[in-house]
Amino acid sequence: MEHLESTHTTPGEERALRVAAMDPAVHAERVQWMHDYVVSVHERYRGLDGGEPASYIPELAMVEPDHFGISVLTTDGQGNGVGDVGVEFSIQSISKVLVYGLALEALGRERVLERVGVEPSGERFNAIVLDEESNRPFNPMVNAGAIAVSDLVPGATPADRLALVLEVFRRYLGHPVEIDWDVYRSEKSTGNRNRAIAYLMLSKGIIDDRVDETLDLYVAQCSVKVTAADLALIGATLANAGVNPLTGEVALERQYVRDVLSVSLTCGMYDYSGEWAYRVGLPAKSGVGGGIMAVLPGMGGLGVYSPRLDHLGNSARGIAVCEDMSEDLGVHIFAPEDSWLTAYRQIDTPVPSPRGR
Ligand code: GLU
Repeated sequence: MEHLESTHTTPGEERALRVAAMDPAVHAERVQWMHDYVVSVHERYRGLDGGEPASYIPELAMVEPDHFGISVLTTDGQGNGVGDVGVEFSIQSISKVLVYGLALEALGRERVLERVGVEPSGERFNAIVLDEESNRPFNPMVNAGAIAVSDLVPGATPADRLALVLEVFRRYLGHPVEIDWDVYRSEKSTGNRNRAIAYLMLSKGIIDDRVDETLDLYVAQCSVKVTAADLALIGATLANAGVNPLTGEVALERQYVRDVLSVSLTCGMYDYSGEWAYRVGLPAKSGVGGGIMAVLPGMGGLGVYSPRLDHLGNSARGIAVCEDMSEDLGVHIFAPEDSWLTAYRQIDTPVPSPRGR
């Protein structure tokens, strides 16, 4: 796994060239427009206070429930953040996206597919269930699949395996990452469901006989501290062919970006994934810590933090924000209309008003 500068042109580099050729006044107007727009969405949903932070991991219930941050970052590194974008919280299931990419790089598509499928499960994220025909977990975004993926992380010792995971996270975030040890201990002392899932997989030969070690790694990856701004950067990196738009570093080999994004589109949002693909139409992942990370392929990333969760486990404000932004900016990946961001990327197209506002 060599991680050097990308040798391909990225969407961000292409956009930067277009921006450089743009009238600076027009560009400034568009930047201002985007900022005002993100502010207006934050205003719109600040009062939405339904739902509660997760409490099945006791430490997660200790957060300030009204924190609310929205961060947007384009593939050429232009950012907008509003609200609590610097507040740290645990990444939880959003880590599954990053570690899945790591396993693909380490073992290749076929070997990973032998262990973990890519089919939406129709079951809760923490269901103690495997695909009856293949014995594999349904996909890498449910706990069973993510634990199987963590088992695939290479390394001679537990410390080596964790160091590799944290190194991959660093490439996405552009800075060293830390684990919230309170969250880690809290999940370790209550995570009997995940233990049951892991032993079921051990009995079927899906994971190796080192259950405690693998569960420790899985819980550690879920306990990594991030901010909404970090989530936008993860999204923008995946949108930018795997290249971090702020550092130029390759976080994920280009050939695996599509694997990670297609599974995120179909399985990333718990039992809302189908409706999410229909309404929002963006690869994304949410976590019980209250974060949502969404990818606008070729264009940028979106990070939302608001820990009050709806009944399916997604951030309630996060869902509302993403639904509006997809519609207003016209960025549903299957929408045939020209999107606001498509126009934004071109130098000679007037910026359309956001739809329906
Ligand atoms: N660490 C959490 C668990 O395994 C992650 C859950 C989530 O964010 O979906 O339960």
